[in-house]
Amino acid sequence: MFRAPERPGSARFSLVLPPPNVTGVLTLGHMLGDTVMDVLSRHRRMRGEATLWVPAVDHAGLATQVEVRRRLQREGTAFDALPRELALDALERWKAEHERRIREQIRAGGFSVDWTRYRYTMDEASARATREVFVSLFRAGLVYRGERMVNWDPRLRTAVSDLEVVRTEEEADLLFVRYPWADGTPDGMVVATVRPETIFGDVAVAVHPEDERYRNAVGREVTVPMTGRRVPVIADPSVDPAFGAGALKITPRHDLLDREIALRHPELATPQEIFDESARLTGEWVPSEFRGLDRDAARAKTTQSLDEEGRLVRRTRYRHAVARSERSDAVIEPRLSTQWFVRMAPLASPVIEAVRRGEIRIHPERWTHTFFRWIEEIQDWCVSRQVIWGHAIPVHYCRSCGEATASVDPPTECAACHGHDLVADPDVLDTWFTSWLWPFAALGWPERTSDLERYYPTSVLVTGRDIMFFWVARMMMAGYRFMGDRPFSDVYFTGMMRDESGHRMSKHLGNSPDPLTVIQERGADALRFALVFPNPTDEDSSFGAATLDGGRNFLTKLWNLVRFSTVHFPPGTPPPAGSPTLSASSALENRWILERYQRTAAEVAAALSGFEPSRAATALHSFVWHDLADRYVEIAKEALFGHRGEPLQRETQATLLFVLERTLRHLHPFVPHVTEELWHAIPHEGPLLASAAWPDAAEVAPDPMAEVEMGPVLEAVRLLRNLRAEAPTAPPRSARAWIRPSGPEVARVLSAERATVARLSQVGELAFLNDSAPPPAGAAGRVSPTGEYFLERPAGSGGGSAALERERELLSGLLAKTLARLADSGFRARAPPEVVREAEAKASELKERIDRIDQRVREEAAP
Ligand SMILES: [Zn+2]
Repeated sequence: MFRAPERPGSARFSLVLPPPNVTGVLTLGHMLGDTVMDVLSRHRRMRGEATLWVPAVDHAGLATQVEVRRRLQREGTAFDALPRELALDALERWKAEHERRIREQIRAGGFSVDWTRYRYTMDEASARATREVFVSLFRAGLVYRGERMVNWDPRLRTAVSDLEVVRTEEEADLLFVRYPWADGTPDGMVVATVRPETIFGDVAVAVHPEDERYRNAVGREVTVPMTGRRVPVIADPSVDPAFGAGALKITPRHDLLDREIALRHPELATPQEIFDESARLTGEWVPSEFRGLDRDAARAKTTQSLDEEGRLVRRTRYRHAVARSERSDAVIEPRLSTQWFVRMAPLASPVIEAVRRGEIRIHPERWTHTFFRWIEEIQDWCVSRQVIWGHAIPVHYCRSCGEATASVDPPTECAACHGHDLVADPDVLDTWFTSWLWPFAALGWPERTSDLERYYPTSVLVTGRDIMFFWVARMMMAGYRFMGDRPFSDVYFTGMMRDESGHRMSKHLGNSPDPLTVIQERGADALRFALVFPNPTDEDSSFGAATLDGGRNFLTKLWNLVRFSTVHFPPGTPPPAGSPTLSASSALENRWILERYQRTAAEVAAALSGFEPSRAATALHSFVWHDLADRYVEIAKEALFGHRGEPLQRETQATLLFVLERTLRHLHPFVPHVTEELWHAIPHEGPLLASAAWPDAAEVAPDPMAEVEMGPVLEAVRLLRNLRAEAPTAPPRSARAWIRPSGPEVARVLSAERATVARLSQVGELAFLNDSAPPPAGAAGRVSPTGEYFLERPAGSGGGSAALERERELLSGLLAKTLARLADSGFRARAPPEVVREAEAKASELKERIDRIDQRVREEAAP
């Protein structure tokens, strides 16, 4: 069913599934995105468009290695001590396990991906694409190897990108340390630092050139405490004179600003590395008693040492931003390190222009601003990682001349000196270096496959906005660079899922239920519907048992509706070929439901083409629940059971069948399993609903008068039912009712539909009053724009103040309960907005009824 045609026609729809990480299994957040994608895909497929949805999983390099490392640690094995082959085995096992579970989850959700085109970001074709891209960028001078300040994670012993770093405010000791004059004169320079352990790496003390306090200091030398090394005092305009005492120690290998200052002062000594890969003190500049200490121990020991040497002038508490690695929580060590970088600015500019031109549209549009803010200030991308799980960097170094040779296939000789003594780069590429190629790599690039020719550019990308920069923006860059075209025309950002207490669901927190469990308990369709209704899919929303109840209740309603209807489609009933032909003399309810259907169909079509699946689901929910099941079927029962003659029975059966069959088609993309099952229970044409054509709203001729005429009928039923509900003792079914219509048009419609109004509002006899008739004695009344409505009060209920009192007590009890529920903040946080609104409506209705009783008691007490 879901296999994309090899030779599509001109109408096509394609998308890639954002490859889920094999780090874990899918969460409800994934299910939300997958449901949105499936709704769009099934809709387009039913519209006859050649639809390709490519599934895949992502090897998630560093992230997976961290998970496997953690698992082995729990089992008592040190990952770092394992031989490479065994470590890779452990990683492969992890991948196989999680890949199986993820595929099972995608199937269980009923997502219509094309499994024949399943891909993995580390399969042979992906490896080839990754190498091609690296080499191409290398040749164009867009990747370079350089000594740059990187975010070093000393726990995982790898560089991580800016996006993988979390900054938080933390408190630390700010030490004021005296660096004595090297020539032995008293005093010296006082430097403020929170990192005394980096003192060993200092190459200078810097002050602002216009700082009067240090006018005579610049050019002199100080001694670095604990080392005896002499370093100069220099002037640099980037020093902030207001921080500490206005003098800054310069450690170029461990601070970005220090590094920039040092580059402006070539006279300074070449700094030596003072930390090893695990951020333990090391190297010639570090006195032997400090070597091997990690940063915490080093900080304690250097502080103590400075104190003992009398270098510590004072200390204060200080709040500052600390960068931690998202993967390991280790404090990031800014480190001057040799890594591979991608020059991003030249890749970003075509993307900025394309989004400006509207060539790629972002939904919801509000995220466009965030997108521009980031991409316009884009930094170079560090793409090398010091892990083993990933694509090797396709570079070899020459032992003879030192040059780097980049090549797709392993090189046989050095590109510079043609020497043969080559050694491979030991690092792997950042996972995103493969993911950013996905819209074309998933279609077979660099081969000119037929899929690539036919299905690129893809139509839409659906993903969470948390990876807007990691992934979405980079895919756009790669698309323009390597395909000369946008990777997709639309980007749709889903909201973030929160649990019932408002916390964001994440694998990390473990607060997302396993979708497989939810599906086993509630069914895939209940889950899918609850994900798109009632909360909009592009907003953050909380999700819990109550949300699932909403999905399940809707499906039950639909199921019951079809079960009731099938009785009226006797064997041999032909499938509906088109809209029943109705005339002005047809039953009003039939004209009305066709008009309501037609409007709903138009709304759904508009919502789906505008990437608003929740708006479409809301329109369908309201139509099925309120119009079709609650109103139409109730009104049409008389005709369906033949009480209004055979021609009307036939017309009503045909109308019901048509509307039901078309509605199931409309609902199919949202709830494919239940609708498929129900569709087979009614007369239909074709093998599967999944391959049935999407109905065109224009199939039904608009009949706006039907809705205008039905208005007063529904209004009359509502008001008479309210009068009945408000009566202190329930009026019998034979109770009389009167209507004084507000005008001749209302009068005409209501008298034509008199039987329907009487039946649905459960009154025995319905009479019309003219303008001059007095209100019926002893009847309760209501006024509305369509007229005045009266309902006979049961005999004896009039003077029953005891009965009124009992009623009032009952209602007050209910009101107190409802108000207590509403006052509970937990209820408001957990319940879907619809349920809260319902409770609010109930409370105000109860209040109104109590007021009315009070009014009646006063009236009856009056003389
Ligand atoms: Zn060479």
